Amino acid sequence: MERKKRVAIVGGGAAGIFAAAVLAEENTNLEIVVLEKTRQLLSKVRISGGGRCNVTHAQFDPKKLTENYPRGSKELLGPFHRFQPQDTIHWFNQRGVELKTEEDGRMFPTSDHSATIINCLLDAAKSGGVLIRNEHSIRSIERKEEGFTLFLDKQSPIDCDFLILATGSSPSGHEFAASLGHSIVSSVPSLFTFNVPTSQMLDLSGISLSDAELSLKDSSFRQRGNLLITHWGFSGPAALKLSAWAARDLSACNYRTELTINWVPSRTKDDVLKALNGIKKQKSSKPLEGENLFQLPLNLWKRLVLLSDIAPNTPLNHVSDKKIQKLASAVSESRFAVEGKTTYKSEFVTCGGIELKEIDFKTMQSRLVPHLFFAGEILNIDGVTGGFNFQNAWTTAYLAAQSIAQLEQQAIV
Ligand SMILES: Cc1cc2nc3c(=O)[nH]c(=O)nc-3n(C[C@H](O)[C@H](O)[C@H](O)COP(=O)(O)OP(=O)(O)OC[C@H]3O[C@@H](n4cnc5c(N)ncnc54)[C@H](O)[C@@H]3O)c2cc1C
Repeated sequence: MERKKRVAIVGGGAAGIFAAAVLAEENTNLEIVVLEKTRQLLSKVRISGGGRCNVTHAQFDPKKLTENYPRGSKELLGPFHRFQPQDTIHWFNQRGVELKTEEDGRMFPTSDHSATIINCLLDAAKSGGVLIRNEHSIRSIERKEEGFTLFLDKQSPIDCDFLILATGSSPSGHEFAASLGHSIVSSVPSLFTFNVPTSQMLDLSGISLSDAELSLKDSSFRQRGNLLITHWGFSGPAALKLSAWAARDLSACNYRTELTINWVPSRTKDDVLKALNGIKKQKSSKPLEGENLFQLPLNLWKRLVLLSDIAPNTPLNHVSDKKIQKLASAVSESRFAVEGKTTYKSEFVTCGGIELKEIDFKTMQSRLVPHLFFAGEILNIDGVTGGFNFQNAWTTAYLAAQSIAQLEQQAIV
């Protein structure tokens, strides 16, 4: 009897298991086997979102969705027209898992437990007959005339007709792809917070602003949004987004650069100066600390006044023009010396991976090696924080699974 054609999926993370589940439900005559080197499947899904799993993001416009990917935005536009967060929600709904949206757009299971997502994915894969092999670490991969042979650390080699590489940011996945002819963009960290040991704001740790603008010296990188002052520097979505977009440049300067913050991003320095001079003209005798013109958190405002060499109880009409200039600068362009980075809640993502030009984003198939597919973080794609990295895993895995199912159907016809 002729053996069934086999699909081997290397990596039992979000992308690998989702690809297996989607393919299993296509009812092909394929044997699907997932090879995972560790004991545990979906380990990042388990710890993600503080154990709640931030599955996706409530952004349903494919174009706007792509704007959250510092690397991969152009390539993901087509794929998001085929499988986007709405489809993720629907896929989980159909299998009894409801997702909810938080104020900032992040989506979680209503249970608030990542186990809900894990169980759903594993049930779908297992009930579709997927063979799951834990503690099967792939050492190397060779191309055969048709298909591939996978060599394992401990077990006998495995042949397959289709191969999906879904090894995340693991260097081994990059090595396999390189050995099959693919180019690899070197990996550097993305999504981190800024260390500013000399910041005069460290004791204001805990203050959060709903809107601030951050920019980096000698670059066009600029991000606006929620900012958190921490006891080591700055965090919050604006800082994390800036770290993702500027990941390569920041790595190149070894995370030592100058960060500028506009605490009132809807105003320029001139606007701030005009506002201050306007109050000065009114000859108000109110102490400056009470003239919080820009509705900043009071302690932050007082600190900006102090850093401009002005005693906070001085009325504005007693402050020299030079010091008013200084205060306008402090409000609209405070400068800080960044001296390193800190991982955000251990949610690290890497930028780098398989060169995107070498992949057909209609199918996720290699342009160089037929029947070789890629899904998830192994690609040179990364998103900002908020559920975008998982959405990349779901979308690319879905396309890879669909393409293999179609190739198999065509072979039968
Ligand atoms: C702490 C943390 C929290 C996160 N939170 C979120 C979040 O809330 N929302 C979000 O969108 N993103 C989040 N991310 C990012 C997200 O987890 C990843 O982008 C996503 O898991 C990538 O999925 P993947 O399947 O491509 O890779 P992975 O999940 O990394 O899976 C790859 C799998 O391949 C296996 N493997 C590697 N090499 C081999 C080999 N040689 N042989 C066999 N198996 C191998 C690995 O053991 C692993 O199980 C978080 C990341 C971290 C670290």
